[in-house]
Amino acid sequence: MTFQELGLAEPLLQAIAATGYTIPTPVQSQAIPAVIAGDDLLVSSHTGSGKTAAFTLPSLHRLADRRPAPGSGPRVLVLTPTRELAQQVEKAVKTYGRSLRWLNTACLVGGAPFFAQVKQLARAVDVVVATPGRLIDHLERRKLKLSDIEILVLDEADRMLDMGFAEDIDRIVAATPAKRQTLLFSATLDGVVGKLAQRLTREPRRIEIAPTVENRGNIEQRLLFADSVTHKTRLLESLLGGDDLQQAVVFTATKKSAEEVSLSLQEKGFSAAALHGDMHQTARNRTLDKLRQGRIGVLVATDVAARGIDVAGISHVINFDPPRQVEDYVHRIGRTGRAGRDGVAITFSGPREVGIIRAIERFTGKRLDVHVIAGLEPAPRSAAPRTARPPHRGSGGYGRDARPGAGKGWSAGRGEGQRRRAP
Ligand code: AMP
Repeated sequence: MTFQELGLAEPLLQAIAATGYTIPTPVQSQAIPAVIAGDDLLVSSHTGSGKTAAFTLPSLHRLADRRPAPGSGPRVLVLTPTRELAQQVEKAVKTYGRSLRWLNTACLVGGAPFFAQVKQLARAVDVVVATPGRLIDHLERRKLKLSDIEILVLDEADRMLDMGFAEDIDRIVAATPAKRQTLLFSATLDGVVGKLAQRLTREPRRIEIAPTVENRGNIEQRLLFADSVTHKTRLLESLLGGDDLQQAVVFTATKKSAEEVSLSLQEKGFSAAALHGDMHQTARNRTLDKLRQGRIGVLVATDVAARGIDVAGISHVINFDPPRQVEDYVHRIGRTGRAGRDGVAITFSGPREVGIIRAIERFTGKRLDVHVIAGLEPAPRSAAPRTARPPHRGSGGYGRDARPGAGKGWSAGRGEGQRRRAP
């Protein structure tokens, strides 16, 4: 299947060719013709599946055939749970819409100056990408009308519900025309998401792209047992000194621990920075820019802040704390292995975290490979549930020899990055 066969307009095919994509991903080849046909969609797909293009391309296709009448409101609205994801989606809209020279977009997210957004809305805007809270602010102050919306996209709907946006979503939807087309993307389509979908969509086509490990086959997934937070910190420092590490995202359970881990890494000489929801949006953007430019080696982030990060240089994802929800595991590891590259995802399991690790393995259908780092082996008690075998000694195995100061990783010359794989 080619993009031409999906029926997309010529300007979009040009933009796709310029991007370098040749073959549509499974979610794209199923979703694009269905959206062009005018169907509502319920799509379960994971991050990294190409879902952004799956809704952006056919939405732009709809916009491409006619310019709106003067004074019309936006025709496409995309709601996302986080600011970072909204910015990422707006970027994709601009990339794929580059041949539509008249196309105007607005990204309405909290933390950014409100009146700069009002100014953006003063011109004719075709596509709005927004987080629910800030969009409501604009609606309440009558800075925006949604009565011309033709396509409404809910991206990562499950996450929006998790974050307590259900009421906001209902208010926003009520401001859009009933005859709109609704596209709902979510990691899961069950439970509360299913109920939301019932309220918002009409005879939707259901597309399920399973978030299985096969889809993330380019990401090697490892498990390291840890006895304590101190042990985790030592494991982390060791991994970050590794030769093959370009850039890493380290996930923590709380904002506080993101700050603490980042600070402790900085003190050890690592080029680390924190990213979490308590930071001002300007600081979050600055940090992400630095990450993209390669000026930050290690980003220590919470789940919400890290959604939508798409940086090809991220070679490693390290789960300092496992995620609370199994779906987040798939989102987290999807931060590496971008743009067709290989990636490594390493999860630390503390003594009380074995249960969630098992749940992750059930969810992904794959057991994580237990690794140990020579000199940093867990006490037998922690490793007992999975009986990690002791590391190799000597020159064999997966690791490399200890070399003080070795590694072009992000260490300040601390050379403890040697790994040993449990045979
Ligand atoms: P997403 O699932 O939207 O977060 O996209 C995942 C990544 O896949 C992004 O880096 C896109 O640029 C890339 N991508 C999207 N569609 C394609 C395609 N058809 N071929 C190759 N890469 C793609």
